[in-house]
Amino acid sequence: MARTLDPPDFELSIELNPDAPAELQGIGTSYWELDGLDPETGDPVWTHRTRDLDFKVWSGTAHYAAAAAVTATVLEYFCTSCGGELTLTSRQALTHVRQGKNIDCRSCSAAVEDQAAKVLSPKASKERARRLSEQESVRLAEEEKRKLELGRREAIVERYPVENSSSEHLIDQASILAKVGALAVLHAVGDSGGLIYPIDFNDDSIGPDQSISSELFMAAWNANLLQIHPTSPSGAFVWEEDVKLGGGVYIHKARFFLPERALSNSASRSSPPLFVPGSTWPVCGRRNALNWPSWLGVSSRRKPAVTSFICSANTGCRI
Ligand SMILES: [Zn+2]
Repeated sequence: MARTLDPPDFELSIELNPDAPAELQGIGTSYWELDGLDPETGDPVWTHRTRDLDFKVWSGTAHYAAAAAVTATVLEYFCTSCGGELTLTSRQALTHVRQGKNIDCRSCSAAVEDQAAKVLSPKASKERARRLSEQESVRLAEEEKRKLELGRREAIVERYPVENSSSEHLIDQASILAKVGALAVLHAVGDSGGLIYPIDFNDDSIGPDQSISSELFMAAWNANLLQIHPTSPSGAFVWEEDVKLGGGVYIHKARFFLPERALSNSASRSSPPLFVPGSTWPVCGRRNALNWPSWLGVSSRRKPAVTSFICSANTGCRI
């Protein structure tokens, strides 16, 4: 809720410096824009906070930039040193003089006049032009980067759509190795909101060694039991040109999903899940016989050669 302020009991006169650029004059005028007085403290309440003013391209200090742009005079008060009209060096000077403190005018405050002169010097002007040019270069580079990322996101979505494919069909067509691979990856990596990442072959979480881990993953991927999700970062892909995808994927950076999980709202909801909740394969901490879920289509008497698996995690393996 907006505070109710007291009206000022003094008059503030603002005189523009004709040598200051219009942009700087605007900053100076905004600096001295007053809303009223705090009814409790009697201190001035300013319309703009200094940090909201774009003064830094002109000076590191707001009141130096304002002093270069305008001269603010508080008409009912006088300079302690020269007795002349009180031209203000800063907002704080106004607060202080209203509190009864001795305050000098700008002419008697050499430092402020020197700094104001520096703001308008040819050297400062040159430096400002250089900084503005630098800022513009950074802005353009960021804009280019944003456009590139936007284009790449479109290319990724186009190549890797989340399609309404039948997971049941995929599972039927997949080899045992592919199914085991999908389970091993899901078990090792887990999922975050249906997304499976990051996939790392360098530890023994997917398979007993890097080679088997890679083989399990590749089998599942090639069978489309694991698919690349279009929210994968653009850095997960090799780019042939700016927004043209190449053929390579950085597996550890990409995000994957199991088809039916991404299609929870589609007709495929009725498809059997790729992994049966409560399945006990693999079992943590020790080498264990695989407890093949029935949907794999493998009877206990027809278990394939791979019948054991070491899980690197000691807890939390129940899926
Ligand atoms: Zn003075």
